[in-house]
Amino acid sequence: MLPTRVLSVLAALLLLAACAAAPAPGAAPATHVPAQDMGLLWVKHAAEYRAIARQVYRNAEMALPGYIQDTSWSAMPGQDDAEGLPPAVILDVDETVVSNVDFQLTFERPFANHKLDDWSSNYVSLPIPGVKHFVDTARASGVTVFFVTNRPCEHIEGSDDPCPQKGTTVEDIREVGIDVDPKYVMLSGERPGWDREKLVRRKLIAQTYRVIMLIGDDFGDFVPCARKKVVAPCSSSATRASRAKALQKYARYWGAGWYILPNPMHGSWTSVR
Ligand SMILES: [Mg+2]
Repeated sequence: MLPTRVLSVLAALLLLAACAAAPAPGAAPATHVPAQDMGLLWVKHAAEYRAIARQVYRNAEMALPGYIQDTSWSAMPGQDDAEGLPPAVILDVDETVVSNVDFQLTFERPFANHKLDDWSSNYVSLPIPGVKHFVDTARASGVTVFFVTNRPCEHIEGSDDPCPQKGTTVEDIREVGIDVDPKYVMLSGERPGWDREKLVRRKLIAQTYRVIMLIGDDFGDFVPCARKKVVAPCSSSATRASRAKALQKYARYWGAGWYILPNPMHGSWTSVR
């Protein structure tokens, strides 16, 4: 049995250690160490991650014939008059078609779009497991595949190209074995009104195609107004509560026309409160 005085000293030392570990209110968070980030490590190393990606794409692939055949079906809420239109699927790009986990593990924080663009230009992209087989099967079944990404068009000093990022993105998709005509790749800011709210681009595709599937890793790849930042046509900031409500509102689509891949590394979920 330790004397009371020794116990008091030990308790005081424990308290001091706890105070030292806890950041002061308002202080900057401890430095992020990517190599210790469980989300990044999971995507990089876990067989579970790759198994889920394959599961998502296999389920989507198995659902293709039914959605092609049922011309009354659309995965776009509100598209109810598309019987005569050819079928299309809409895929996001990052963490849906190409994996950026190696970029996430190495880039110097904070994130900037040009850092991803530079990295993508210098490394051969790796595919999300299952995506190439899915795209090949969809195309062989007569389905047009669109790639709608929020990689933005940004001017680069010394370049006349208004959207040099488009070439990088097309190249990244080709590097994972999916050949693509650039006209099916739609970047944020590529045309007036094509902002980070993807609904605008989805609606444009739905004017001439029956959209039978949406595939992505972010809530915003499916649901409008999923972001903290307010972008037209949204009029208010998304919150955790508004997203939970949307999850319910569109319950019929998850796994039935909408296929979401896991991404614990980044996304619109990180900024909403
Ligand atoms: Mg993505």
